[in-house]
Amino acid sequence: MNLILFGPPGAGKGTQAKRLVDRRGYVQLSTGDMLRAAKASGSELGQRVAAIMDSGSLVSDAIVIELIEDALERHKGAPGFIFDGFPRTIAQAEALDSILAARGQVIDLVLRLEVNEAALIARITKRFEEQGRADDNPDSFKSRLKAYSDQTAPLVPYYQGQGKMIGVDGMADMDAVSASVAGAIDATTRKR
Ligand code: ADP
Repeated sequence: MNLILFGPPGAGKGTQAKRLVDRRGYVQLSTGDMLRAAKASGSELGQRVAAIMDSGSLVSDAIVIELIEDALERHKGAPGFIFDGFPRTIAQAEALDSILAARGQVIDLVLRLEVNEAALIARITKRFEEQGRADDNPDSFKSRLKAYSDQTAPLVPYYQGQGKMIGVDGMADMDAVSASVAGAIDATTRKR
């Protein structure tokens, strides 16, 4: 199962991905987590991306594509992959299609967490107060929302065109979202 969790920043992709890891043994591939780990380690890559991430802009396609390729290689044979926060641009989506094709695989399902923007701002303001993640500050969060609508939203017609996108109500409580996610995965698995 190659699943993309799709949605704006703060939609709850990470929460749902972690539940699928626990419940199904899938591997979560979060480019955000990978980049934050690079930043925390102080590696050359981390130093290069830190300011871009803190401002809420996207890092270059080449960087995240390489991270994903490496991770797929490391976890060969996993029962499923959850792409969380990737792809975020059309170029990334095209690269992912060809990386998977080279392995005889495809994206099976794109789950879109549907949320409203006012609620997202409230969620992230709360997370900023609780956790102090640098790019959750109000200015950076606005940039992240803008990056989403300018660069990532065009993926909706891309995946709808492939007939792979299913919408899920991301404003429901976490367990209800998990139940919808599970239902969509099971329906897709039965069809294959
Ligand atoms: P969010 O909560 O916004 O979904 P993430 O943890 O996925 O946050 O990403 C945090 C930051 O890492 C992004 O704002 C961006 O700077 C960088 N990043 C993560 N994934 C990508 C990607 N696929 N392409 C470009 N930049 C990315």
